[in-house]
Amino acid sequence: MTADINGSFIHDPNLEVLIDHDTIQKRVRELGAEITRDYRDKRLHVIGVLKGACVFLSDLLREIDLPVSLDFIGTSSYGESTKSSGEVRITKDLDISPAGRDILLVEDIVDTGLTLNYLINMLKSRDVSSLAIVALLDKPDRHEIEVGASYIGFAIPNRFVVGYGLDVGELYRNLPFIAVPKDPAQLARR
Ligand code: 5GP
Repeated sequence: MTADINGSFIHDPNLEVLIDHDTIQKRVRELGAEITRDYRDKRLHVIGVLKGACVFLSDLLREIDLPVSLDFIGTSSYGESTKSSGEVRITKDLDISPAGRDILLVEDIVDTGLTLNYLINMLKSRDVSSLAIVALLDKPDRHEIEVGASYIGFAIPNRFVVGYGLDVGELYRNLPFIAVPKDPAQLARR
């Protein structure tokens, strides 16, 4: 296991910070304020997409000044690799019926858009009252399908990123910032 001279996991020299913690927090506050304004007259039901959205979701929820109900759905993404397979698999279904609810789907990143497209179709077939998407990150150059997210934290270049919920080989979700691994394969080998 490599680490910097102080033995820090977080300050691994293989990680190049793309979006620092303070910048993320400021943007999450702005998104929370926007969502609060837009849902003032509705009963908001938030669905977090596991596992990548968990860190973003927990910060965002606390910036929404409204009564909010919460559920989770699990999808598989890249598995142990850094390439999308394009296949979407539900690993955990909803606990609460979304029918008749005003849903805000919280995702970590829009890459090809295939995962969100699948989830949007699945939710619409369950008779939701309204459906909006919030994603922390967006890679516009990678879209294969346009999902029309209502709220986006940051548009980023076509780079593989980790941290703030995003993993490589199930690690690095606990980084408090978004980073580009200089060598993703090296991180995945940990
Ligand atoms: P999509 O279906 O839009 O191609 O990607 C869906 C999922 O792939 C995301 O929710 C995320 O879990 C994963 N993903 C996409 N891009 C990245 C990335 O740059 N880093 C990591 N760690 N995961 C990504």
